[in-house]
This record gives sequence, C-alpha cells and structure tokens, in this order.
Amino acid sequence: AQTLGGNRYEFYQKLLSVDWDNELALEIDLRHAIERQELQLYYQPKVDLRTGEIVGAEALLRWFQQAKGFISPAKFIPIAEETGLIKPISDWVLKTACKHTKLLHQEGLGFIRVAVNLSGYQFNQEELPQQLLKITLSAGIEPKFIEFELTESLLIADVKLAVDKLKLLKSLGIKIAIDDFGTRYSSLNYLQQLPFDILKIDQCFVRDIEHNSKKQAITKAIIDMAHQLGLKVIAEGVETAGELQFLCQNGCDEMQGYLFSRPLPFRDFKQLVKSKAIL
Ligand code: C2E
Ligand code: CA
Ligand code: CA
Ligand code: CA
Repeated sequence: AQTLGGNRYEFYQKLLSVDWDNELALEIDLRHAIERQELQLYYQPKVDLRTGEIVGAEALLRWFQQAKGFISPAKFIPIAEETGLIKPISDWVLKTACKHTKLLHQEGLGFIRVAVNLSGYQFNQEELPQQLLKITLSAGIEPKFIEFELTESLLIADVKLAVDKLKLLKSLGIKIAIDDFGTRYSSLNYLQQLPFDILKIDQCFVRDIEHNSKKQAITKAIIDMAHQLGLKVIAEGVETAGELQFLCQNGCDEMQGYLFSRPLPFRDFKQLVKSKAIL
C-alpha cells in the first residue's frame, strides 16, 4: 500500500503514452521489416463453387516481428500508409506476388490467378500501369494472371480519374475486383460507374447467412445484380457448411474462407493446389 503513489504514477504514465509509444515503436520496426525479411505473403485459395476446384488465391501480407511476433495487417497497413512506408511495402508485395505466380506456372499450375490488395498509395500512383508492366515483365508472367482488389475508400477522391485508371489497367489484361462490397455508403454508385470484373461480398453478409433472412435477401439481390452487370461474384469469409450451401444454391461463383482453407505460406499453398489439381 505504501508504494501506491509510485505505482499510480507509472499507471498514468502508461495510460497516457501507450498508444503513441506503440505506434512509434511499430513504425520504427516497420522501417526494417523488408530488409530483415520479416514480411511474408500468405495465400488463401479461391474455390470455384461449381467444380470445387482451386482457381486462384488472394495474397495476404503477414509481418512476423522479432520481439512482438505476428502483427496483423489491419494494424500495420494504416501505419504504413501514414508514414509513407506503404511505398516500399506495396512494391515488395506486388513483386513477390508476381514471382510466386511465375513459380506456380512453372509447376504446371498456369490456371491460377493471384489477387493483390491495392493500397491507396498504389492506386493513386500515376505510374501504376507502367510499374505493373515492368514487374510482370521481369517476373515473366502476363498481367492477365493478376487481379487487383480495391476497396471503395480508395475510389472516393475522383471517380472520373478512377474510371480512366481502371480502364487503362484492364487494357493490360488485369482483372479488377471491388472488395468488401456493401460495407460503405456508395457501393451502388461505384458499381454503376466503374468497370469492375469481380464483386467480393463482404464477410459480414456471409456470417450465419443461413439463419438470417435479411442477409439472405440482400445477398441474393447482390448476386443477381452483379450477374446482370456481367460481374463474377466471390463470397469471402465462408466458415460453415450452412453458409456454403446457401451461396451455392443462390448462384455465387466462387468462395474463400476458413471452411476451405486459412491463408497459407506460399509453399503450403502450392502443395495444396498441386495435390488437388488434375494435371
Ligand atoms: P481483406 O482484403 O478484406 O482480406 C480478408 C481478410 O479476412 C483477411 O484478413 C483474411 O485472412 C480474413 N479471412 C479469410 N477467410 C476468413 C474466414 O473464413 N473467417 C474470418 N473471420 N476471416 C477470414 P487479414 O489477412 O488479417 O487482412 C486484413 C486486411 O488487411 C485485408 O482485408 C486487407 O484490407 C489488408 N491487407 C492484407 N494484405 C494486404 C496487402 O498486401 N496490401 C494491402 N494494401 N492491404 C492488405
Ligand atoms: Ca481483399
Ligand atoms: Ca475483403
Ligand atoms: Ca476488409
């Protein structure tokens, strides 16, 4: 009880500085993440719901920090965006994804498409199309095997500019997916104006869909609308057989989720595809 004052001081000290310290420490560590080879790309399979085959994968960034262990991309990507570190990180992601795509093709798995999540920084870069060409060329793959996943928040700034950029990217053969569909305010407006190829239904609609008639109504409508617009529909975050069954019965094209597989290190993903593929 005598040391309460001291403890209390430390407690307040901690309370006041904890977030700031954490963010700053993370930023400092993040600066070295690439050179220390602490970043990895994991791959989560995308499965065709008609054939049950793996047709692609989403590349998901992982950071294994020496002292702190695994740090979620949801936590460090915003810091990377704020500090400009997103530039070297995004470049590394795109290069690594293309390198891995080439390795898959060399194993006879040339049907696999790899999706990369685009950061705001990357999307706003004027030279993105040239950079994409450069990276795919040096990796030895065609851009048509790469998909970009974009969230609505990236598009807000200037829709006209976004339309032009997406058209240019598509002319190179790349496919464009709208990610987390339905979680923001202007999804329908974007859908009307922007030339997407793929719509990803957010996991919040998928979760327990078989027990929720409102989610069912919304999801059915999204799938029908997307198909009428000529888009392919992927459901993300599929965890149960009940969710899968509803999506199959209602014409969803592809799925991704823990039910089939968690995101895997590249080697494990490659092995999984090889073991399932009829070569
Ligand atoms: P996202 O693009 O919406 O990715 C889907 C997230 O759902 C991933 O989280 C994935 O691991 C997780 N997930 C997949 N299947 C299931 C499931 O069945 N159940 C549940 N509960 N979750 C599932 P993750 O890997 O933690 O990534 C979080 C977010 O970080 C991503 O959301 C994406 O916005 C961002 N991110 C990840 N990698 C990159 C990257 O390379 N670049 C950029 N710019 N952002 C990235
Ligand atoms: Ca995504
Ligand atoms: Ca998503
Ligand atoms: Ca998300």
